[in-house]
Amino acid sequence: MLDCIFCKIINKEIPSSIVYEDEKVIAFKDINPQAPIHLLIVPKKHIPSLLEIEEKDSYLLTEIIKIIKELAKANNIDDKGFRVVVNTGDEGGQTVHHLHFHLLGGRFMTWPPG
Ligand code: AMP
Ligand code: ZN
Repeated sequence: MLDCIFCKIINKEIPSSIVYEDEKVIAFKDINPQAPIHLLIVPKKHIPSLLEIEEKDSYLLTEIIKIIKELAKANNIDDKGFRVVVNTGDEGGQTVHHLHFHLLGGRFMTWPPG
């Protein structure tokens, strides 16, 4: 989608630190990390938010969970614990309107989140 920063990363129009990629999903380091490990796992299909996930996209969620597990293991945070966040909408703190899953780890997380 034109003017979507994550579509531009997917199309390699702007650089990013890619840590995983297949035909359907890409994962890269967050440019403004909020934890020692802060990765973004992003479907290549432009889905604006969690609200627009359709039944036919459900295979993507299974795939993304699998990738999150692999990345948690690869970064040695599977045993220690980690957090997965999907900010949705303005009050949810979503700033990029292309569905993405934050994988945060490497420090203790607090609750409630800010
Ligand atoms: P959210 O606020 O949940 O929509 O998350 C968007 C995330 O994308 C933020 O954590 C940003 O730091 C991150 N971000 C924005 N632009 C880039 C970029 N060019 N490369 C990597 N991460 C980015
Ligand atoms: Zn997009």
